[in-house]
Amino acid sequence: MLNAPCPMPNPNKFIAQNLMQNTAEYYCAYCGEPNLTFIDLSAGGQQSYIEDCQVCCNPNILYVRVDEDTLDIEIDTESES
Ligand SMILES: [Zn+2]
Repeated sequence: MLNAPCPMPNPNKFIAQNLMQNTAEYYCAYCGEPNLTFIDLSAGGQQSYIEDCQVCCNPNILYVRVDEDTLDIEIDTESES
């Protein structure tokens, strides 16, 4: 008697779904303090937006780059002047 193959859970798929939104750290261009920000990975590999520093409340321009293979996130900050 043949047993139906048991469907294997797909851990890669599970991880990919969890990584669709991720947190990353950047350093404020004004006070140098680390800030945590949410990155929407579905919005693309290059994003830029303005976010107020959680410490000194100054607006930082964030340039976000996401490596499509490793999903590593890099953030450059610039002061809005
Ligand atoms: Zn700051």
